[in-house]
Amino acid sequence: MVIIMLKELSLEEKEITKRQKLIEGWDQKALKNSTVFLAGVGALGCEIAKDLALCGVGKLILCDMDTIETSNLSRQMLFFKGDEGRPKAEVAAERLKLMNPFVEIEVYFKKIQELSMEIYRGCDVIIACLDNVKARIDLNKICIDLKKPMVEGGTVGQEGHVQVIIPEGSVDKLGNPIEFGNKKAVVQSLIDEKLWELDEDLNADYFAAQEEIMKLEEQIEIIREKRINPVVGKIRMDVEKEINENYEQYFNFTACYRCAVPVPPPSGKMAAACTLKGIPRNRPQCALKSEVIFYNKYDREVDYSKMEDVKELADIANSELKALWKRVLEENISDEEKKSMTTEDIIERGKNIATVFGPLFSPEDMENIIGNKIPAVQTVSSIIASLESQEALKMLFLTHGIKVGEIMNPSYINYNGVYGQFDQVPISRRKNCVACGKESEGIENLSIIIPQNATFQQLFELISSQGYKLKPNVWSITHSLTKDFIYLPSSPKSPGLLDRVNEKGIESGNFYKFAAAPSNAIDGIHIFNILIELND
Ligand SMILES: [Zn+2]
Repeated sequence: MVIIMLKELSLEEKEITKRQKLIEGWDQKALKNSTVFLAGVGALGCEIAKDLALCGVGKLILCDMDTIETSNLSRQMLFFKGDEGRPKAEVAAERLKLMNPFVEIEVYFKKIQELSMEIYRGCDVIIACLDNVKARIDLNKICIDLKKPMVEGGTVGQEGHVQVIIPEGSVDKLGNPIEFGNKKAVVQSLIDEKLWELDEDLNADYFAAQEEIMKLEEQIEIIREKRINPVVGKIRMDVEKEINENYEQYFNFTACYRCAVPVPPPSGKMAAACTLKGIPRNRPQCALKSEVIFYNKYDREVDYSKMEDVKELADIANSELKALWKRVLEENISDEEKKSMTTEDIIERGKNIATVFGPLFSPEDMENIIGNKIPAVQTVSSIIASLESQEALKMLFLTHGIKVGEIMNPSYINYNGVYGQFDQVPISRRKNCVACGKESEGIENLSIIIPQNATFQQLFELISSQGYKLKPNVWSITHSLTKDFIYLPSSPKSPGLLDRVNEKGIESGNFYKFAAAPSNAIDGIHIFNILIELND
């Protein structure tokens, strides 16, 4: 039996790829121990090689028989002026090494047909980035023969395609078949096929039933025609009239960003600030607390570019996390119970608690958690970035009076990388949109999180920290739905600034209207609809 030593990630590699690590199920070490073959290092090959090198794929094999030409420089982003005449694969390897010095790269300045089969055999996935049909046919044959999964793609003008090929008999590193396809759908289609071939004499009742259904469907059709369609038709006429009369609203403009995001979510920092008082109750709070402890200890902020700082921060966070485990363990075992437990029992219980609260922090976790970072990966980023470019390109042409295609409609698209699916999402313009709504001038929406026991003073200070310096002596607060007054500076009955908001009618999860006379407007805004969440 051959024992393969797995390659480990260096500290720097962990640091470089730590954002990817936030993605559920992500396994950087598996990537590090993967080999991808790229057939062709042209426009597609450069882009794909760059993506894979940045993501931290361990080994890339680049094969291209061409040298760089000046006309390549308009799109093959790994090649620069002055590279003309040099082999594409070789130059690409140099540039990829600059992007990720840890990637191992093997290059071949040859035709793909001239390579030894051993090279292909050593790869996990083969990617065709070729410019001719013949090479595609040959590479396809190699993949089928060696049972290697393959991705094939190409572009012609403004069109392109991608095809995935899993040859029969392809297996993963453990020898399990690499599955492709939807078993449920295959089963259903086979059932449909067999039903279609059913012998009519042997299944008389089945066919009689089908006949009955057909008759019922005819009746349904008649009912629809007589009693449903006239109503739908009337509504259709009204809708068409409404659209014709308000054509601009429906067709000439898209929804704006604020139509899609009417109330911006509160900033992560704000939520963090609210949880920092008191003792941490979960893993992220341990990390947040560690930053405060670090600041108090050294009288300066953490420098995330310094490994010593980040390591120290992780150590502090880990001692907070361990203290949390210990507290929870002690809370969960009564003194009586403790007497009947062996040391092993207690250790076992402790281990369970540690599992529930999550693992100790590694240095590369720290900035991700404290900065409230969002998981991100290059592959999806490049798809989205490319879509943005594509739409911007069409818009640019339109500004010159040239139409190369319709602007994306619906104007919003979701790409789901898990399912490989694009979903168009129709987003309508909102009449009351604070950015593009005609009736919403002087109105803004916000959402904030404040501590449960905050005072009105603190409430106003927190809104100020969001960039809107509302003076408590000119702004009133009303419950948005009930219209009840909560705070009214001119009234003697109003709560004072030192009163607690939760004792004077402010409840978590409601909208409150902050209003001032237009002469006291802030940035032209005299009404704020603020979604207030109270943090316990
Ligand atoms: Zn809008």
